[in-house]
This record gives sequence, C-alpha cells and structure tokens, in this order.
Amino acid sequence: MISPIKPILFVVSGPAGSGKGTVTKMLPKSYPDTIGLSVSYTTRTPRDGETHGVEYSFTDRKSFLEMVRNGEIVEHTTYNGNLYGTPRAEIERIMGGGKDIVLEIEVDGATQIRKDFPEAVCIMMIPPDAKTLESRLRGRNSECESDILLRLERAKEELLFSPNYDYLVINYDGMETECSKQIKSIIDAEHSKMS
Ligand code: 5GP
Repeated sequence: MISPIKPILFVVSGPAGSGKGTVTKMLPKSYPDTIGLSVSYTTRTPRDGETHGVEYSFTDRKSFLEMVRNGEIVEHTTYNGNLYGTPRAEIERIMGGGKDIVLEIEVDGATQIRKDFPEAVCIMMIPPDAKTLESRLRGRNSECESDILLRLERAKEELLFSPNYDYLVINYDGMETECSKQIKSIIDAEHSKMS
C-alpha cells in the first residue's frame, strides 16, 4: 500500500537582494493545495505595501520576547536591530494540514531549525553576482543608505553559510518563475526519496 505523503519542512535562505521573498511567495500561489508559506513575527516597521498577517505578523519587542519565553517561537534572530521569528503555530497549522511548509528565514534561524528539525531540507538562494545583488537592493528604494550597507555586509557573511545547505539555487534577473519551478522540483525530488 502507498502511504500518504508526509509533509516536509523546507527552509529558503539567501542574502537580501537574492529575490527569495518574491520567489517563495510564488510557491503557495502556484501550489496552494500542497505548499504553505510560514508568516513570521517581526518587530521591524512594515514597508509600504506590507500588510499585517501577510508578509509578517508585526509586533512589538515586549510581546515578541514574551512569545519566545512561552515557547511560541521555534527559532528567532536579530537582523539589523529587529527581531524575527518563526511561530510554532505556523508549523503546526501548515504541516498539520498535510502541506509542506516553506520558511523564508536567514542563516542563524536555519541553523536553529536544523537542530530541532533534523529532517528539514535547506535551500540557499543567491543572486548571480555581487553587482546584481547591490543593484537589486538599491532598486527596492525601501531602505535608507545605512540599512543598505548593513544588508550588503550581512549578505557577504550569509554566503559563507552556503556549504551548510542541501541545495543552491541561483536567481538570475527576470527568472523568478523559473527559480520557483526549480524549488518545486527540489520539493518533488525530496518526496521521491526512498530514505
Ligand atoms: P526583511 O526585513 O528584508 O523582510 O527580512 C530580513 C531577513 O530576515 C531576511 O533574510 C529574512 O529571510 C529573514 N527572516 C524573515 N523572517 C524570519 C524568521 O522568522 N526567522 C529568521 N531567523 N529570519 C527571518
């Protein structure tokens, strides 16, 4: 007898400007019955166009730390002075509903997830080169210069974590759809593994 498909936890990381936000958002849109994207908590201020509960659940520092103490956040980190964390409830809701979950999180969070969920599959998404990364970050017009410089610095550090990941995906300019299809292929391959 064929057993039912067991949901898998996927992590997608990548430096700011890698395009991972755009690409990961495509997955639940294209495959709503099988893939869910976790919505993190953050203490960062919403950017123009961001909605509470869609890109993030925006919260304050005190509430965030209280959720950490209560065990409601499975991993968290500080990025550019703001807290970001994955709600336990998101993992339970999405995987409990029989779907694969995608966590779009940075490298510290991925390391924590690896410890608590050893079966997690980690994908690193990178831009084709450093120049592309910088022009994407500047083209966003959503961050001030000091924030852009911090993100560029952090991007270099994040790339050093690539060897800890299971897959590397390069996101070329204008190829977001192809990139999301490549991630779907990885998801399918993981479900086809015999062990
Ligand atoms: P942004 O401010 O650009 O939305 O996100 C900044 C960084 O935080 C990105 O690298 C993003 O992947 C990461 N991030 C978003 N949510 C989480 C989370 O829940 N946990 C961790 N560890 N990183 C997160």
